[in-house]
Amino acid sequence: MTISQQQLQFDRNHIWHPYTNLNKPTPVFGVESAQGVYLTLSNGKKVIDGMASWWSAIHGYNHPELNQAIHEQIQQMSHVMFGGLTHQPAIELSRQLIDLTAPELDCVFLADSGSVAVEVGLKMALQYWYSLGRQQKSKFLTIRNGYHGDTLGAMSVCDPETGMHSMFSETLPQHLFVPSPSCVSDEDWNESHIAEFRQMLESRADEIAAVILEPIVQGTGGMRIYCPEFLRQVKSLCEQHDVLLILDEIATGFGRTGTMFAYEQAQICPDILCIGKAITGGYLSLAATITTRNVADVIGSYGDGNLMHGPTFMANPLACAVANRNIELLLASPWQQKIKQIEAQLIAELASCRQLESVADVRVKGAIGAVELKSPVDMHKVQPRFVELGVWIRPFGKLLYIMPPYIIEPDQLSCLTKAIEQVAREQIKP
Ligand SMILES: *Cc1c(COP(=O)(O)O)cnc(C)c1O
Repeated sequence: MTISQQQLQFDRNHIWHPYTNLNKPTPVFGVESAQGVYLTLSNGKKVIDGMASWWSAIHGYNHPELNQAIHEQIQQMSHVMFGGLTHQPAIELSRQLIDLTAPELDCVFLADSGSVAVEVGLKMALQYWYSLGRQQKSKFLTIRNGYHGDTLGAMSVCDPETGMHSMFSETLPQHLFVPSPSCVSDEDWNESHIAEFRQMLESRADEIAAVILEPIVQGTGGMRIYCPEFLRQVKSLCEQHDVLLILDEIATGFGRTGTMFAYEQAQICPDILCIGKAITGGYLSLAATITTRNVADVIGSYGDGNLMHGPTFMANPLACAVANRNIELLLASPWQQKIKQIEAQLIAELASCRQLESVADVRVKGAIGAVELKSPVDMHKVQPRFVELGVWIRPFGKLLYIMPPYIIEPDQLSCLTKAIEQVAREQIKP
């Protein structure tokens, strides 16, 4: 069934899309189906997907094995409550996640979306200090340009400007922010990059429950890449000052930056880890918060010791079943080599953008490529232009960026990089 003009009109009048204005709708494209790295749009156009549906569809769309995992599970049960009940897919997934992450990470909460996984991580940290009788440790410290989700708690630790804190300032808890590191590689490291962070921890550790940040790559807050040394310093300062470390790998997890998790590049381990997005290969909404035995023990030792969270659809069996197959597929594939190839090709093919007058910066890490322009694009023009060029790339603000499915072939990836260069060129003011 193709989407009719009438239906598209209904969509424009009644349905909010992410961050949109119903009074001033931006164009949306109907999608009929998706296969491998292709989306088939209602206008008949087949486009190469550069977004992996926001970092998630790492093996591409309509994957026979992922489809099968869902079919098999649906014969057993689609959903049961997780209160007082458990099931094979959740147990298997938790076991896989514990095996996949650092040895210290041992206790799993299966949430239903990334934002919820972040809320749970924040609560774990607050309950940890409460249990130790230190409830004054109730603030979070983070770096600017971060993104941790759209629920109020998660939002309170997003970048205050891009997260529009001013609009919600009467409601949002006030947390602590320091500039994000500007040091891209360890070779350029010096103490100044950690100075403000260190100062904040030294002066206010008594109020700080945890540091929360995205390791190595800051995603939606600006597609910024920073060096592992910053993370090592953060970890060591957190230990020194009795502050927990929450790493949000919802975007970076499952190989995207070249290692299974980005924190591995700094040889550190968080106290609390949030993962999501690619966990089900883009099939269903699922996320997880994983912590150490120590954090779980401390939370469990005070009062009735309950971790205060429990969404209706937590650990949904269909989502867990497809997540299990997704992780098996990833581990059975030569993913490290594949990400390296994608990275090398992105570096080679996006380099020419640097010369363009409209371009401020080009950044590549693993299977992530971003071209930052000097001024924001006009989405009304640029979005249809990308479709015309045969690709699905969704810019935001000044950023043209891609994080394609890992199965993308070199010639398909070239179509994406060519389209970015073309659009960047068209942004040059005459
Ligand atoms: C997408 C994202 C979230 C929020 O996940 P949702 O599933 O959209 O709620 C949180 N943190 C990071 C780093 C993300 O990229």
